[in-house]
Amino acid sequence: MTAQPASATRVCRFCEATIPAAARVCPECHKDITGRDTSIAAPAAATIEPLPLGPMPVSLVDINLPFESMVWFMVKWAVAAIPAFLMLAAIAFAVALVFGLLFGGLARLAS
Ligand SMILES: [Zn+2]
Repeated sequence: MTAQPASATRVCRFCEATIPAAARVCPECHKDITGRDTSIAAPAAATIEPLPLGPMPVSLVDINLPFESMVWFMVKWAVAAIPAFLMLAAIAFAVALVFGLLFGGLARLAS
């Protein structure tokens, strides 16, 4: 086996040369690379901050869905809009009923 797998190499953070992952000194620029390197995945769980409890704010920057998933999502959305619309209609009916009883009766008395 002559070729190294891609995972056995990394990029030197000083000269950006591809070097063996186990190297402690870069063969290109001869700088010490044993310090913490943020270009590789952090191996220790202690360096990862624990997730805060409770709801987390999410900033949605893009939606990259396959077309079929998007269509299915939109179908579910449209179906879910039906009970949502019925709830809004019921609320609007209740509000209209209350205002109708309050002011409709007064208007009828005034005329
Ligand atoms: Zn280097």
